[in-house]
Amino acid sequence: MQHCDITIVGAGSAGLTLALLLAPLKLTIQLVEKGPAPEPAKAEFKRVSALNLASQRLFAQLGIWPGLSEQLAAYQQMEVWQADSFGRIGFSAPEQQLPALGWICDNEQIRQQLYQALQQAPNVHCHFNAGIQRISQGEQNVALQLDTGELLLSRLLVAADGANSYVREQLQLPLTHWDYQHHALVTTLHCQQAHQATARQVFWPDGPLALLPLPDSHQVSIVWSVPPARSEALQALPAVDFAKAVTAASQSVLGPLKLAGDRQLIPLRMRYANQWVQGRVVLVADAAHSIHPLAGQGMNLGLMDVAALAELISEQLQQQLEPDCPRMLARYQRWRKSEAQSLILAMEAFKRGFSGGAMLPKLLRSVGMKLLDQHGGLKQRMMALALGNQGDLPKCVRPGLRPASGAVDQSRAL
Ligand SMILES: Cc1cc2nc3c(=O)[nH]c(=O)nc-3n(C[C@H](O)[C@H](O)[C@H](O)COP(=O)(O)OP(=O)(O)OC[C@H]3O[C@@H](n4cnc5c(N)ncnc54)[C@H](O)[C@@H]3O)c2cc1C
Repeated sequence: MQHCDITIVGAGSAGLTLALLLAPLKLTIQLVEKGPAPEPAKAEFKRVSALNLASQRLFAQLGIWPGLSEQLAAYQQMEVWQADSFGRIGFSAPEQQLPALGWICDNEQIRQQLYQALQQAPNVHCHFNAGIQRISQGEQNVALQLDTGELLLSRLLVAADGANSYVREQLQLPLTHWDYQHHALVTTLHCQQAHQATARQVFWPDGPLALLPLPDSHQVSIVWSVPPARSEALQALPAVDFAKAVTAASQSVLGPLKLAGDRQLIPLRMRYANQWVQGRVVLVADAAHSIHPLAGQGMNLGLMDVAALAELISEQLQQQLEPDCPRMLARYQRWRKSEAQSLILAMEAFKRGFSGGAMLPKLLRSVGMKLLDQHGGLKQRMMALALGNQGDLPKCVRPGLRPASGAVDQSRAL
């Protein structure tokens, strides 16, 4: 039997980031992951995420940005347009006086950098290849029975176990969810023309195709959201025919494309837990919400959840209070639920606004996009949302903060 202050279930980007944020505090932490430990990733870019400025600031605070930045692609421009119409909107980093609009990172490389940094933390104990058999909550602690036979007792349990959260299901926390009727087809392609550090997204009536620049100026990662039957047909096409289909869907914006990776299909569902806290258990990131990837915000939102939770726990400790205080957990829930709801609504409006091929709505969308592109104020607000500079941000990611020199902002350590 092992006693600790906090157990984190799930070593994805959210769970590992939270462990690293909490590491400088006087706490004992257990991290439980059913899969193996992150290994140095090959430069394959299988699953990528667009990190926004707020997440970049968080990783800089944690000291992992220098290692990560060797393996990612910064994008300077963003172009969004509607297929077969004049609707188009563009954003540029120099226009915004920014170093970049965002960064395309491989998910495994993010996990690897976080895990490497975590190995310097003596108070964080990791259990890999460890599934959970049972969770039970008592007055003083929450007990986790692992299938390795170990029993972990902690004052607080954080569920960072992803969109299909086992913890959320075991506790029967109510969930609002719907099927987006889309599968995301993800792969890497070689492009004849250089991508010029530009992230592109073209909206078709049945879903968007995103072309995300990779470090090789002639490679892009695509996220093509299409109805399930079409995604399966596209996955089954011979490589040459598939490449022709993507070239056509991209309107040859990068010239002819050539398949350079495996094709993965990921069913897309909106999930939103109506309750994020139950007793000593709290949900974060995809365990609490999962959204359509069309604006590349899911991981960014989850990273803000864990930064917020770490901030509140740190404040508790500074006031000599417990890290499992119900009032603090209720505050976390109020704070982050409201941020997640705003983003879910924005995503839904965005998705519905761009789907469908009927003539009149299409014309209105095209006019709307053109006006938006020319309207500085609205465009600026859209940009702030994409950069992650909007809303009630955790202190450590607010704009203007200088990166801490150590692994984390040591001023918060006790
Ligand atoms: C196609 C696609 C494209 C996307 N693009 C972007 C993007 O550009 N930008 C962006 O910000 N977001 C993007 N996202 C969203 C992003 O990938 C997720 O929000 C993010 O990876 C979630 O991280 P997480 O740590 O919460 O969950 P996960 O990454 O799912 O990690 C959960 C971890 O918990 C472990 N686990 C699960 N069950 C158990 C258990 N019972 N016991 C122990 N461990 C367990 C899992 O093995 C896993 O390691 C995209 C999503 C999709 C589908």
